[in-house]
Amino acid sequence: MVKITGFTTRDVRFPTSLDKTGSDAMNAAGDYSSAYCILTTDSEYTGHGMTFTIGRGNDLVCSAISLLTPLVIGKDLDELTANWGQTWRYLVSDSQLRWIGPEKGVMHLALGALVNALWDLWAKTLGKPVWRVIADMTPEEVVRCIDFRYITDALMPEEAVALLKEVEGGKAERIKEAEENRAVPAYTTSAGWLGYGEEKMKALLKESVELGYRHFKMKVGGDLEEDKRRLRITREAIGYDKGNVLMVDANQIWSVPEAITWMRELAEFKPWFIEEPTSPDDILGHAAIRRALADIPIGVATGEMCQNRVIFKQLLQANALTVLQPDACRVGGVNEVLAILLLARKFGVPIVPHSGGVGLPEYTQHLSTIDYVVVSGKASVLEYVDHLHEHFVHPSRVQDGYYVTPMEPGYSVEMKADSMDLFSFPGEAKGWWRSDDAKIILEGPRVI
Ligand SMILES: [Mg+2]
Repeated sequence: MVKITGFTTRDVRFPTSLDKTGSDAMNAAGDYSSAYCILTTDSEYTGHGMTFTIGRGNDLVCSAISLLTPLVIGKDLDELTANWGQTWRYLVSDSQLRWIGPEKGVMHLALGALVNALWDLWAKTLGKPVWRVIADMTPEEVVRCIDFRYITDALMPEEAVALLKEVEGGKAERIKEAEENRAVPAYTTSAGWLGYGEEKMKALLKESVELGYRHFKMKVGGDLEEDKRRLRITREAIGYDKGNVLMVDANQIWSVPEAITWMRELAEFKPWFIEEPTSPDDILGHAAIRRALADIPIGVATGEMCQNRVIFKQLLQANALTVLQPDACRVGGVNEVLAILLLARKFGVPIVPHSGGVGLPEYTQHLSTIDYVVVSGKASVLEYVDHLHEHFVHPSRVQDGYYVTPMEPGYSVEMKADSMDLFSFPGEAKGWWRSDDAKIILEGPRVI
């Protein structure tokens, strides 16, 4: 029996704006950050969960975590995990906090950190990685993790159980593949950031090809001629006829007609899809873009800023997506992601989780493994960005073009204590953010 006795939050920020890591058409200079939730218990176990942000406002998410987490203090872990769907509903049901969501924005980012911390804690007590906890469940148990409110017009619990049963036959074989690190092929965005110069880009592309990557994503949407120049360089490095796949990402910079015009100009580079062509809330806009680009053909992907399962449901119902990209912490943690994976399965759309951020590959390696082993039975690529993994106790890794399946108990986002201390914001006297190096960010002109 493990009882949750307390919690801490940590505001951890890495100064990635200094070298433009993560830069794209909408986000010029982000400092990759973690709003952290650490659950303490009356046992040896602690639960670690985090939400990814890109700097300013990370403190708001920490405050929201502090408002939500008292809901689980004093509870037995067994009581919370016995009926997960009910627990998830309980965690979104504080009516005063619900008013400043509901199930979206800062409150939902905070919920993701808390729910994921609970999964991390539970998995540690079971001695398994999170993906394996779910792989060892029956279809009925998986479905009981989900709160079906607002999605039963698209998917009923009984149907979800039937979908899972359909692929159960090959599950043991897929678990074996996962154990052999052959479940989740990786793609890379490392060369693709908009702020990187030509030489850096060429060197990173060459390195990625040599490392065995077959999928490459580039940021677009700053300047059309510049996009053409960068995509030409990319195609020179990866070729058109070597089986390598190009993807492009506009990070919401366009209105719907702009997205269509711009992407028709880039059709010669043959991208598989355009990611986040417009506002993540614009379901009918995504559907219109998909229809308008169908003849080229260029697909449409989105999800990293989709706020909850309801938006995903509508995107699928509107036939707006070629690829669905759930985020591990923008929605309310593992349970809501399971709902989204099942919706994607029902509509026959592959999932490619969003991983461009600190801690995200650590999370999403579990989610993609769950999708392959338990939900869809089909392998799908997963983004890998090679930034900041050194700060994690069990960092995610890619080998021979595949993710190395995590085998340590938990959800893999436990950060090293020294890293947390050094990059806490605003931090202690010896912290990075109190150093002279930080002044260029803290006192220089604000890059918005
Ligand atoms: Mg993106």
